[in-house]
Amino acid sequence: MMRTRTNPEMEVDRSVDAHRIEPVWAASRLETWFPNHRRDLPWRDRRSPWRTLVSELMLQQTQASRVAERFESFMERFPDPVSMADAGEDAVVAAWEGLGYYRRARLLHAASVRIRDLHGGEVPGTVESLIALPGIGRYTAGSIASIAFGVSAPIVDGNVIRVIARLDAVDAASDDPSLIDHCWRRAEGLASAAAAPGVLNESLMELGATVCRPGTPSCDACPLVDRCGARTEGIEVSIPRPKRPPRRELVHLHSIILRRRERILLRRRPPAGIWAGLWELPSVESSERLSPDEVAAGLDFRVDGLRHLESFRRLLTHREVHFHVHEGRTRVRRGTWCDREEASSLAMSKPMRMLVDRRAWASSD
Ligand code: SF4
Repeated sequence: MMRTRTNPEMEVDRSVDAHRIEPVWAASRLETWFPNHRRDLPWRDRRSPWRTLVSELMLQQTQASRVAERFESFMERFPDPVSMADAGEDAVVAAWEGLGYYRRARLLHAASVRIRDLHGGEVPGTVESLIALPGIGRYTAGSIASIAFGVSAPIVDGNVIRVIARLDAVDAASDDPSLIDHCWRRAEGLASAAAAPGVLNESLMELGATVCRPGTPSCDACPLVDRCGARTEGIEVSIPRPKRPPRRELVHLHSIILRRRERILLRRRPPAGIWAGLWELPSVESSERLSPDEVAAGLDFRVDGLRHLESFRRLLTHREVHFHVHEGRTRVRRGTWCDREEASSLAMSKPMRMLVDRRAWASSD
């Protein structure tokens, strides 16, 4: 439940709360602050709707510093929606490697196809038409529409929730639906009050990322400190409260290195589920650890001499994956046998790439 510290006995309608900051004042402060305090990031150097769209998709679940490393080379490969649509999904997924959450690469490609086929190759400029594109939700649509087209559209992500919860001294978990609703209303008021809604939105995001950070915020550097509710009450460190940690599903992935001359056998994962469509060593997935015989029985072709090499664990957002690495022999010829160079051009999850690079080329029979 969402409460204020000023009136802990009752749930409070934030629209009448004493801490509510005047939107015109806050928007003006934020718009003035941003040009002088923004980080230099490649998608801010040269602006275009397509660059904004790609950067927003990349930033959905990847840190800005990681995106910054990869952004320009990705844009050189796909300088406009038509070049991406024509290149095909596999090329986009391969170029996406290192950014994680590959589903976004597939959705981005699907969006580029829609832009090519329905919008004459130009990114559309309204929230409604952007939301209709694959992979673009309310936040991303508002972000692209405001930054690239100057539309007065609100945005709410984790950074914005933290800033608004603190400004308004709302004591709630950051995933509390009533807090999120409140933030959308407040973000809408701020965007409407802004002279340049795109600048306002980028400023809000930037403030959350660099000043009003999780943990201890740098309030002395904040343009809104004079009227911040959390700062006034001395609760800026404790709100918003953290989300409940996700319950992770336990998965055992038994991966097998099979070599033939200088090649290894690789295959694609199914189109849905964990690491969908990425390449991997032939693997057997289960909820419990399997013996080598059980692993061999789980494959759709014959392997002999299966030998366990190592095990390691990776934590994903919703899963705890235990890798069990084996090597073995097979007479099977069908399938995708790759040399080192071919394997390096196929998109793989980060742990699978690490595993192949470290183990697959170590010896051959
Ligand atoms: S004053 Fe501090 S807590 Fe309030 S918005 Fe600024 S950085 Fe966040």
